[in-house]
Amino acid sequence: PDFLSKTLSRVKPSPTIAVSNLAADLKAAGKDVIGLGAGEPDFDTPESIKEAGIAAINAGKTKYTSVDGIIELKQAICAKLERDNALSYAPDQVTVGTGGKQILYNALMATLNPGDEVIIPAPYWVSYPDMVLLAGGTPVPVAAGIETGFKMTPEQLEAAITPKTKWLIFNSPSNPTGAGYSASELKGLTDVLLRHPHVWVMTDDMYEHLVFDDFKFATPAEVEPALYERTLTCNGVSKAYAMTGWRIGYAAGPKPLIAAMRKIQSQSTSNPCSVSQWAAVEALNGPQEFLASNNEIFVRRRNLVVEMLNAAEGITCPKPEGAFYVYPDISGCLGKTTPAGTTIENDEQFATALLEETGVAVVFGAAFGLSPNFRVSYATSDDNLKEACTRIQNFCAALS
Ligand code: PLP
Repeated sequence: PDFLSKTLSRVKPSPTIAVSNLAADLKAAGKDVIGLGAGEPDFDTPESIKEAGIAAINAGKTKYTSVDGIIELKQAICAKLERDNALSYAPDQVTVGTGGKQILYNALMATLNPGDEVIIPAPYWVSYPDMVLLAGGTPVPVAAGIETGFKMTPEQLEAAITPKTKWLIFNSPSNPTGAGYSASELKGLTDVLLRHPHVWVMTDDMYEHLVFDDFKFATPAEVEPALYERTLTCNGVSKAYAMTGWRIGYAAGPKPLIAAMRKIQSQSTSNPCSVSQWAAVEALNGPQEFLASNNEIFVRRRNLVVEMLNAAEGITCPKPEGAFYVYPDISGCLGKTTPAGTTIENDEQFATALLEETGVAVVFGAAFGLSPNFRVSYATSDDNLKEACTRIQNFCAALS
């Protein structure tokens, strides 16, 4: 252990991966397991995008590219930001990395010094706090509970800001709750940031296109143009285009920050996969119609899951605006005992008992920094969802 770096001891292994491992073990042991843990669409990458990747291979576009992306992809990203977000960026204000994850990591590595604070509304995507820790900063979680629809209020943001605050990490629609901030809710937060010129905003817009009903997506620099100079707008093709395995994410922001992020990437991974970059060009420039048809499927599944979980004793499940997750509250199950004899004192025990006694794999809320809850990913078939929710209902009904 002395051989390993001290930095490493500051971070924990991914709890979502731990749940997947336990589910895989049970499956291997012959148990009938339904996984609701996956953070990726169950759809295949659209045909035209796959073809663009194949064409790139056949054309020999299989060599190193410039460190943070080919110009064609940067231009496609600029066009996308203009088209969808009314944001004007030039290619030298854009950086492309190996997934949204590397982009966020580069940005934190490029900016954090010991003592720098990063405000992270909770529940949060599991990697934010650990990335901040790896980069030497201090995560400052702000609990945004069910009573505010899992959204941080302007008052909470104001109270969390100190002279040491460097970033606010903002994620809407959210992983793990699906909560999306309307433009006016977001304006409440950007108004606070206007009063604190030393705080920058890193917005993770990964679920931008996965929004339902009449909800309209909005991003900070669009809602408050005065924040343009201190906003890093991060996005990627993983979720909307069902391209999680291709590993392409990107960001747009002030040139010196983009150059610093490129420097980190140049000494770590170099360019993201050349073939994937060409596929991403097609994703952003090509037809977007399938987004709406995918969303029809997601909205149907969301409604199914929300209705069935609310019918389970002791569970309250808000109906979120986007992404493909719900984040039910299990307060009503705490203190009760399962048929196998486990007393449920927290959401980790709930999720473990649910998996062991019914074969349904979910991720417990403590992993995302807000309890007592669990996360369901509904990016799986209607039949799986119905069966899983029925098992959850039966599990809850059997608690005593
Ligand atoms: N940001 C959020 C909120 C996510 O949920 C994910 C994926 O789970 C990512 C970023 C990372 O995306 P990528 O697969 O492009 O690295």
